[in-house]
Amino acid sequence: MMHVKHPSKFRGFALGRVNYTLKEFTCKACTNYCHMQEFTVEDEKTYWGDQCSDKFRRRQLVDKKPVIEDLLKLKRDLFFKENDDIQNSKALIGLPRGMYIYEHLPLWRTFFKTLGYQVVLSDESNGRTVRQGSENAVAEPCLPIQVYHGHVQQLIEQQVDWIFIPNMINAASPDRNLNSYYCPWGQTLPYVLKNASTFQPYRDQIIHPLLRFRDGLPSVADALYQALKALGESKKSVRSALEFAYSEQEKIQYDLMEAGERALSILEQKKAIGIILIGRPYNIYDRGMTLDIGNKLRDYYGVNVIPVDFLSLDHYDISDVNDNMYWNYGRKIIAAARFVEKKDRLHLIYLTNFKCGPDSYIKHYITQASGKPFLTLQFDGHSNDAGYITRCEAYLDSKGAL
Ligand code: SF4
Repeated sequence: MMHVKHPSKFRGFALGRVNYTLKEFTCKACTNYCHMQEFTVEDEKTYWGDQCSDKFRRRQLVDKKPVIEDLLKLKRDLFFKENDDIQNSKALIGLPRGMYIYEHLPLWRTFFKTLGYQVVLSDESNGRTVRQGSENAVAEPCLPIQVYHGHVQQLIEQQVDWIFIPNMINAASPDRNLNSYYCPWGQTLPYVLKNASTFQPYRDQIIHPLLRFRDGLPSVADALYQALKALGESKKSVRSALEFAYSEQEKIQYDLMEAGERALSILEQKKAIGIILIGRPYNIYDRGMTLDIGNKLRDYYGVNVIPVDFLSLDHYDISDVNDNMYWNYGRKIIAAARFVEKKDRLHLIYLTNFKCGPDSYIKHYITQASGKPFLTLQFDGHSNDAGYITRCEAYLDSKGAL
């Protein structure tokens, strides 16, 4: 005979006879202003609709702490430190907090500050940014491009003098012969924005040099000079500010690599499981867009999270998987998959978003490169994390990481 320790909570199949009430309200605990639903069923309340799970739902308690430092926080601290106020600044330069800023912020902040401009960064993405972005976007681009529109809108409301949206063609690559293109949506972003009807009155305030990082610093300096000479900048001042900005960016890149190596060595020593977060930096670090999943893995389940940009991947050969991966992020993502191959305690979670063409193409190469199954989480701008958390729990459980 089976002994039941606790009475069952199953309510039975007669749902029509269950009494419940539904209350809808807006949570004002932060700037997300989530639309909440409170269901009360026989005195028990449950909540749906929140982006953070902090206020209304109890955290999953796992008696486990990560053994490595919080790398997501480290990058945020290094990248998003407070902007210093500049005395007698020449003008306010707005930087939308989206897309490639999660890769290049130290570079642009240092560059403009050195030239004497006050940098204004838009706020972290929140419900309002996502909504405004989707309202202002022409056609129906992917989520990060839509959200970027919301950041531009915010900078216009803040009345900055200029908005800097570089026309990014390619990234610096370890070998000048190695292709490293950005995606066409990213490459065309300034033109798409300038032609969105909401932004047309501000189109002349958008500075958009055409940048090919793969061609090296002189090429970038020249393009910046062409874009900034109308503001009175000289070739010499642009070049010297850029050289300084490159060195600041490199220092931070070095810190990230060093922290990544430290984390991997601790995992090795402690024989602990690690999860590599793969995707683009704007998916991994934009908490408002991807529901802060990286931090939740760490905080709720004690997961050792290593974002892909903490790994040194330049020398991983992926030519057997794809011998012409000309998308820069694609190359890094597949290289990260190759990196975990034959490392039994490292696993992959792929953060992506709805309508990403390049991701839909390269996802198929991940198992081939890593030899392992992986978890994909695709974000669509909706604000409830319950489905993502359930999938993470199942995946972590299958990897013995809970
Ligand atoms: S890579 Fe994907 S998510 Fe990024 S801009 Fe292109 S389509 Fe959008």
